[in-house]
Formats: sequence, C-alpha cells, structure tokens
Amino acid sequence: MIQRTLVLLKPDAIQRSLIGRILQRFEDAGLKVVGMKMNWIDKEFAKKHYTEDITKRRGEQVRKALIEYIVTGPVLAICLEGIDAIEFVRKMVGTTEPKTAQPGTIRGDFTHQSYGYADAKKIAIKNLVHASGSEQEAKEEIALWFSKEELHSYKTVHEAHTL
Ligand code: ADP
Ligand code: MG
Repeated sequence: MIQRTLVLLKPDAIQRSLIGRILQRFEDAGLKVVGMKMNWIDKEFAKKHYTEDITKRRGEQVRKALIEYIVTGPVLAICLEGIDAIEFVRKMVGTTEPKTAQPGTIRGDFTHQSYGYADAKKIAIKNLVHASGSEQEAKEEIALWFSKEELHSYKTVHEAHTL
C-alpha cells in the first residue's frame, strides 16, 4: 500500500548539520519527498505535535522535556511517500533509545544517548528524528504540519519510465 508519513529532523539533527546525510538515506531507499519545510515552532504548536498521548505512554516529565527540546531550534518537516512508508521509515529510523538502536539505523548510527542519562538530567532523548508511528498518527501529523497546497503529487523518473 502506498502511504505518506511525517518525518521531522529535530533541532539536534539541524544543529549537527546532518540534514543531507539523513535525507540521502530516505532517497536512497526509494522514498519520495512530497513535502518539505523548515519551521521554528513555538511551545503551543509543540503541544499539538506531542499530545497527551505522550503523557499516557511516557509520563508528564518526558512530554515537558520534549516540548522544551523541540523548540530549541528550527525543525525540518518532511512528508515521505512510499510502499508501506510508515512502518518502513520507522525501521530506518530505529528504536527510540539511541544506545540500543541497531547499527544501520539513523538513530543507531548517529547517536548514542541512553534513557538513564536523559532521565537523570531530566531532558528529552536526543535522537535526531521523529517518524509517525501509525496510520492514525501519520494522518494527524501530516495535517498538522502541512497544508494541502504544500504537499505535491508528481512522478519520479523511475515511475515515469514504468508508464
Ligand atoms: P518515538 O520517537 O520512537 O516514536 P515516542 O513517541 O515514545 O518515541 O517518544 C517521543 C520522543 O520522546 C522520543 O523520540 C524521545 O525523543 C523522547 N523520549 C521518549 N522516552 C523518553 C525517556 N524515557 N526519556 C527521555 N526522552 C524520552
Ligand atoms: Mg512516537
């Protein structure tokens, strides 16, 4: 099934100048960029992205720390399209904790922070990338970050050649 998913390069990815290398991985895998923009969001917007669902799953302290982290610099919002893109992009991004994320994943290759370290410091885990976790999340997050006019349908040369 062709799906669209939301990826955010969080402030640490931008500040570490990793935009090109991370985007390259998605393009190399055949995913199509259908929307992209840089935004420096405020806390009000951050609360719409990191909803009460985070509190339920991770606790109030994590949500508070996340909201503080995501506003520390600009974020690159990317809408990617591809076959089973939601699950596939999550695989490429890796599991939440960098310390245990598999090598070969974005988090596993570029970061090494642990839950223990982040929790002791009362900070959010710096793991470079957000990726929608389910169809429902993707739908809500794409609608939050992009207007209809900011999302584009076009053919890559690979698709055009198969016509
Ligand atoms: P994911 O980003 O892998 O989907 P979650 O949606 O559960 O993970 O959490 C959102 C973000 O919150 C994570 O990417 C990470 O930055 C941060 N986070 C999650 N759990 C913790 C924790 N125990 N301590 C600090 N930060 C956390
Ligand atoms: Mg998540």
